[in-house]
This record gives sequence, C-alpha cells and structure tokens, in this order.
Amino acid sequence: MGTTVSIEVDGLDHDRLADAAASAFTEMARIEELMSPGRPDSEVARLSTAKQEMTVTPETAAVISRGLEVASRSGGAFDLTLGRLKLLWGIEEESPHVPATEEITAALKGIGPSGLRVVGNVVYKSNPELTVDLGGIAKGYAVDRAISVLREHGVTSAAVNAGGDIALLGHKQGRPWRIGVQHPRRPGQVVATIEASDRAVVTSGDYERFFEQNGHRYHHIFDPYSGYPAENCQSVTILAPEAILADALSTAVFVLGPQKGLKLLEDYPDVDALIIDSAGQIQTTPSLHVFASSTQ
Ligand code: AMP
Ligand code: MG
Repeated sequence: MGTTVSIEVDGLDHDRLADAAASAFTEMARIEELMSPGRPDSEVARLSTAKQEMTVTPETAAVISRGLEVASRSGGAFDLTLGRLKLLWGIEEESPHVPATEEITAALKGIGPSGLRVVGNVVYKSNPELTVDLGGIAKGYAVDRAISVLREHGVTSAAVNAGGDIALLGHKQGRPWRIGVQHPRRPGQVVATIEASDRAVVTSGDYERFFEQNGHRYHHIFDPYSGYPAENCQSVTILAPEAILADALSTAVFVLGPQKGLKLLEDYPDVDALIIDSAGQIQTTPSLHVFASSTQ
C-alpha cells in the first residue's frame, strides 16, 4: 500500500502481544494482496482489466460498496474510478509531470462512480476501460482488520498506524491516546493534538505524495471534476468509529474543501474533522475537542 505500518500494543504478556501484532501484520499483508493496484495479480488489478463484470471476494465487494456510498453522498468527490488519471499524472511513478489538457480530458472520459455497481459479490463495470482504485479507502479497511485481529487475540490497548491512517483500541495506560496532527508545511512539526480511544483518526494531506513544477505543488488527491489535484485543503483529519469510513471521508472532504466538506459531515453524527484549508487555517466540526493547536 506504499507506506510503513506500525503497531503499538500494550499489556502484560509480552509473548501474547508479539503474537497478536504478528498476526495483525499478516492480515494487513493479505489485504494488500487483494486490493493493491500495483500488484498485477491482485483482485482489484484484475477488476481493472476485466471487460464488464467480475466476481470478487465478499470483502472486496464490501469495500467497494462502502466507497460507492461515500461517492454518492459526496456528489462524486470521492471517486474510486480515477486509476487512469492517477497513472497519467504519474504521482507515484518515477517521472511525475503535468499532463496535457487533452490527456486529462481523455482520462476522465467514461469514468465516474456511477459506472460501478455491486450486486452480491459481482462488480459490474459500465465501461471496460473503467479502472478501480481503492487507494483512498483500502488502507483504512486494512487498519480496521488489524484492530479486529488484535482484539481476537485478547489485546485491549493498541494503536495501528499505516502512514497516517490510525485506529486506536482502548486507552493507553488508562488515558486516551494522543494523536499529533502533522503540520502540512513543516515536516516533523505538529499543529494540533487530539485525544481519542476506540476510534480511527485518518489524515489525507497534500504533503504525502507530491511533486513541484514551476513552483506549484501537484499532489495525489484528485478533483474528479477537473482532473487536477484538489486545491481547497492542505490536510483533512477525520475521526470516526471505523478507519474505512474515516479514510473515504478524509479524501472526500479534502476534495470538497472546508465549507462543503463540513456540510457533508452533518450527515455523519459520529464523525469529527480537523481541516487545514488552503490558507493554513484550521477549521473543525463543532464537537471536536482539540487538545492544543497552532499553525504558527
Ligand atoms: P488518501 O491519502 O486516503 O486521501 O487517498 C489518496 C489516494 O486515493 C490516491 O493516491 C489515489 O489512489 C486515490 N484518490 C485520489 N483522488 C481520489 C478521489 N477524488 N476519490 C477517491 N480516491 C482518490
Ligand atoms: Mg482516504
């Protein structure tokens, strides 16, 4: 999934904890094998080359369905079909570059979440060229699965972090976990601290994967309407009961920007957000308690 995963577990029985963490890593590797577009034999890669329909595992079907739900509620800002556009920009390849306008128009042609349908375990594509990219949601699912595996092993205190997709189990030594939200322009600095337990805290940022051309930053979260990287935010952190939802929403809100993004979140009573807009200003949902914050 193109990132480093860390698992922190707390408890008394060292061997049991080590066993539990090892099983959680194995589970995440299994999900990567299913859902990584970079592995030509992964289920999602095969789905991208499938002509019309393909039967997938129940969990891939479920992840796509959850993604389509957020796609629909966000008016298409969350779009699982941007694979061709992502390849065109080459953000995760060796030589990223700004494509020609005609190339962008061509990559957007015939795509969109309305072209994907899930019935049971069958995924139907409206167009053979439509590719499926779970980059905005699969890490969240993997993190949720890691927490479930830890729980099954009897772990009661854990933090799983897959490059900014974090899920927290229980408390850390009797107190809520503390998560630092990264400063989007100053690597290594924290702009805000959030306390949470039994929740997911997922961040989408324009500093994660990007290149610069003529002094402009081009990053990996695309506005499906323009085909260019979304410009309304520097980062979006979402707190939700599940990382899969937090992951999809962080990408969706990033694309929508603070105003429309906060409006979308009114549909989700269990969800909070900390948004750093394009000017570096912090905006949050009314109920979010930020422990300390500063963009200075
Ligand atoms: P995240 O870091 O969760 O915001 O996800 C970013 C990744 O999601 C990118 O690397 C793409 O694979 C994919 N992606 C980019 N733009 C979108 C979008 N508008 N909707 C859904 N997925 C996207
Ligand atoms: Mg995401």
